[in-house]
Amino acid sequence: MGCGGGVGGTYRGTTLRVNRMETTRPSPETATCLLCGAEASPSLHLPRFSGASCEACARRLGRLLVKAPSLLTDIWPLLAEEEDPLEPEPRVQRADGSVVELRQLTEELKRDLTVEERVKLVGIYGEIGLVREQLEECGRVLVDAPSAALAQRALDVLFSQELCSPLGLDPLRAHLFPS
Ligand SMILES: [Zn+2]
Repeated sequence: MGCGGGVGGTYRGTTLRVNRMETTRPSPETATCLLCGAEASPSLHLPRFSGASCEACARRLGRLLVKAPSLLTDIWPLLAEEEDPLEPEPRVQRADGSVVELRQLTEELKRDLTVEERVKLVGIYGEIGLVREQLEECGRVLVDAPSAALAQRALDVLFSQELCSPLGLDPLRAHLFPS
């Protein structure tokens, strides 16, 4: 975004407090991954379960969130938030005059975002109450995160008390490692 924005940056004249999420730091120490059982180094933190995840499992989860979010509604019930079927997706006109669904244009615009910008978008989605979008964006961050610190930001949202079912660990393992 290049506006020098970090915490409380100004975006189009509106002050957004996008980084108020609680953040934990990935630990350089090794721990056992709650998901695959292997040693995790660096170990990422899953706040909801007071335990660790390895980077590979975080990416695996990201891919699942992007590809098949409907599989994960038992763990993140708000992924099931239905769009109103009676409300048609708004259509907008591109610069070249063609008309597309707003959803498609948003996807195109988001393609150019860096992972850092996507993390900010996660915060913005949370602030404006688009929780399903927020959860799915966390998945994209996990897939592409170049560092454990950025992956941790997405895990802090996904595995927060508010969003993650306390019963989620076993079903999540089953989805990540189908037998
Ligand atoms: Zn793992």
